[in-house]
Amino acid sequence: MTTYDALVIGAGYIGCATAYYLTAAGLKTALLERGGVAAGASRANYGNVQVQDAELAHSLPLVTAGFARCEQIEAELECSVGYRRIGSLLLIETEAQWQLMADRLPALHTAGIAAELVPADRLPELEPLLNPHSVLGACYHPHEGQVYPFALLWAYLRRAREKGLALHTHTTVTGFDLSGGQVRGVKTDRGMFGAGVVVLATGAWTPRLGQLLGRNWSIPHVHGQAIVTEPTERLLNNHIASAAFFEEMQDADANTAGAVLAISQAAHGHFLLGEAGLVTADLGSAATPTGQAAIARVVGRYFPALRRLRVLRGWAAPVAFTADGLPFFGPVGGIGGLILATAFKSTVIVTPLVGETVAQLVVQGHGGLDLTPFSPDREVAQIH
Ligand SMILES: Cc1cc2nc3c(=O)[nH]c(=O)nc-3n(C[C@H](O)[C@H](O)[C@H](O)COP(=O)(O)OP(=O)(O)OC[C@H]3O[C@@H](n4cnc5c(N)ncnc54)[C@H](O)[C@@H]3O)c2cc1C
Repeated sequence: MTTYDALVIGAGYIGCATAYYLTAAGLKTALLERGGVAAGASRANYGNVQVQDAELAHSLPLVTAGFARCEQIEAELECSVGYRRIGSLLLIETEAQWQLMADRLPALHTAGIAAELVPADRLPELEPLLNPHSVLGACYHPHEGQVYPFALLWAYLRRAREKGLALHTHTTVTGFDLSGGQVRGVKTDRGMFGAGVVVLATGAWTPRLGQLLGRNWSIPHVHGQAIVTEPTERLLNNHIASAAFFEEMQDADANTAGAVLAISQAAHGHFLLGEAGLVTADLGSAATPTGQAAIARVVGRYFPALRRLRVLRGWAAPVAFTADGLPFFGPVGGIGGLILATAFKSTVIVTPLVGETVAQLVVQGHGGLDLTPFSPDREVAQIH
């Protein structure tokens, strides 16, 4: 059995960043992943660094500090990860959504996030392809960002491996080695790995691992789906989503009902179109024809000009969330050495900061952020 200072489980955004910062802090670290790199939700997303959709009660310090870190990430890793600045539009269709967005503005402004409500007649200047008759207006934030997801993950891994990270893909954690209330390592289908610190960055799979520890962590997931089109010249100025995400997403049924608009144009010109979501116990990644059709319908309603684009492929992945919109982030009570870092409302924006904070927790015993609201030991409502 090889013994490490720290084991990170799960090679998505959070696991790759965490493995990097632990290794950079001088810890002998291994990253264990049941599939290949980005086998979970991290291979299915748009790479958007989302600012204005933050959870307001407890997450603004994490989001604003996280955004500042993202803006420096290429300088920090000394390579391109496709980072670029884009704006964000949350489209508003109903008076109730307008009010919901208006109610969020004071807290966003206090945190320095300059989001504003824009009526429909101003939208053609911000997003010429959008059908302005489809909406009442939008919540607009001009300064957000986008990375190329795989470039960021592999940049972290490349840098971490240069510093000695052991990467074990196709290695599934099946149990934990605990004694005296302390984690001593994990069992896998490829043998035992020892460590005094284990970080679970396991997304939608986290409740299954929790059960092995006698914990009932309330982390449901949606089966999130998107489709991707052939590339075009740059046609979109912003990442565009629907304000309905704030009221509907977790109820949207990809098999029967619909999708909630989420569109981005990737750096290479492909349109990423979504998003159908279904709360399910299924951890699979099969795209469903009805989900894809629902996405095509919703996109055509807001962006008629995109109807002529050819779809290249579609995908789906299980995306963890929580009923209170807060992550499970911090040490686990009663099990020394076990840290959770998962179920972030928007993951990309917090990735560097979360990885660094975990390394601080391990090395110094505390991080720069107040993690109390995110405690894995808090009571969170179950969603079925
Ligand atoms: C269509 C779509 C678009 C999205 N767009 C965005 C966006 O633009 N911006 C954004 O912030 N978010 C977006 N998201 C959400 C985002 O993809 C996820 O929040 C993010 O990828 C979660 O990363 P993670 O590292 O926490 O988890 P994951 O990427 O799910 O990683 C968990 C890993 O743990 C591994 N694992 C699980 N169990 C075990 C085990 N027993 N042993 C070993 N390994 C294990 C899994 O294989 C997996 O690789 C989008 C999601 C979808 C579906």
